[in-house]
Amino acid sequence: MKYLSTRGGVSGLSFSDTVFEGLAPDGGLILPEDIPEFEEKELNELSKLSYVELAFEVFKRFIDDIPYEDLFQLIKRAYESFRTPEVAPVVKKGDIYILELFHGPTWAFKDIALQFLGVLFEYLLQKTGRKINILGATSGDTGSAAIYGVKGKKNIKIFILHPHNRVSKVQELMMTTVQEENVENLAIEGTFDDCQAIVKSIFMDLEFKRKYRLTSVNSINWARVLAQIVYYIWAYFKVREEEKVEHIYFCVPTGNFGDIFAGYIARKMLKKKIPKLVLATNENDILYRFVTKGDYSVGSVKPTISPSMDIQIASNFERYLYYFYNEDAEKTKKAMEKFAKEKKLEFSSEEVKKVQEDFVSARVTEEETLETIKEFYEKTGYVVDPHTAVGIRAVNKCLSERPVVCLATAHPAKFPETVEKALGMPYELPLEIKRLFELPKRYQVLPANEEKVKDFISRQAL
Ligand SMILES: *Cc1c(COP(=O)(O)O)cnc(C)c1O
Repeated sequence: MKYLSTRGGVSGLSFSDTVFEGLAPDGGLILPEDIPEFEEKELNELSKLSYVELAFEVFKRFIDDIPYEDLFQLIKRAYESFRTPEVAPVVKKGDIYILELFHGPTWAFKDIALQFLGVLFEYLLQKTGRKINILGATSGDTGSAAIYGVKGKKNIKIFILHPHNRVSKVQELMMTTVQEENVENLAIEGTFDDCQAIVKSIFMDLEFKRKYRLTSVNSINWARVLAQIVYYIWAYFKVREEEKVEHIYFCVPTGNFGDIFAGYIARKMLKKKIPKLVLATNENDILYRFVTKGDYSVGSVKPTISPSMDIQIASNFERYLYYFYNEDAEKTKKAMEKFAKEKKLEFSSEEVKKVQEDFVSARVTEEETLETIKEFYEKTGYVVDPHTAVGIRAVNKCLSERPVVCLATAHPAKFPETVEKALGMPYELPLEIKRLFELPKRYQVLPANEEKVKDFISRQAL
């Protein structure tokens, strides 16, 4: 499989070429030149596989420049760190199937992609004799998942900035209790926006970036999307087996459009046996407005109790747009350039109709999120995290069809304060998380100052 850019300036890239690049050189996003579809006969074979075997079968169709034996070993290693060999169990609660994506080391779905990316980075670096330094800013989930993806890996060092004393306690501990020497936690005396601004500005200093071989692991990385396709197909088989039906809906709580875009690709591979994807947003609702009204205009980011979805510009949206415009790169490029200038795109009612062949959407308020955690617990005895609750509520609001799979993107223990508030009772943390409170911590406090951060990186980088 070869890869191209959504803006048409690049084609013929190999999979390995895409792994260390966020953007394509022309500013577009990277996509495979075509999307393989599964034949009916193949589906029956695939449905019998373990998670790791299925991941191998999916990856094989997109990766042709890593020997198959090596690829299988990489996938196996990536998912060994999960607390269950099933990797992503599907459980039925009431009339909803929950796809539990939080059994990785940092208890949220980003582990599924970043555990794979970590072993893949190490493998490719070893082959070429290169070293990289990863730089990123986090308000929680991504940073800890990235740290756990690469900790202890050879030829990689990671620098993650987080706002000092402004991330949740559990999230902070997941990062700062990591002792491996290739991990540097930088606790910045400022807000998440300060952290992000510093990282962005450092990446724009091309000389510094080149000198220290800085790499990012953000959600536009194609290998991350690829790893996420697998669990849709996996859950599709589980529910098909259980319900004996062909068509299964999926609901995805969305921020950067990364996870749901993987669902969109899975839907293509399954030839629309996922009839529609439910796109669930919190009060940061740009994607909801896009699906329901054709209004893709940036508002201001509002902090919510589902913080990993507090995003206004959905960085993977361009990939969808490319398919929406029937793979017309010129049209995609024009639209994205217009969006960069005007901070909005408007779609006609004809176009909205077309979007609605792929998605339905609902926006979920803070109050509704809390209510859903409580009601779902009362009905089923199962506690969900606030992001998952947004998904469940969205299904109740906009989808009557069943069966439906709601993606559980984080474990409730990552957001104990919110869960306790919703349930009105104490929430007991799992033992593995309680233990974090006793471990020694390793981090550096730095002022919100780009030069100070650069100075630290230049002294510590590989
Ligand atoms: C990152 C994240 C999301 C949003 O995922 P996107 O790929 O950005 O849409 C949802 N829930 C949790 C818990 C997350 O960490």
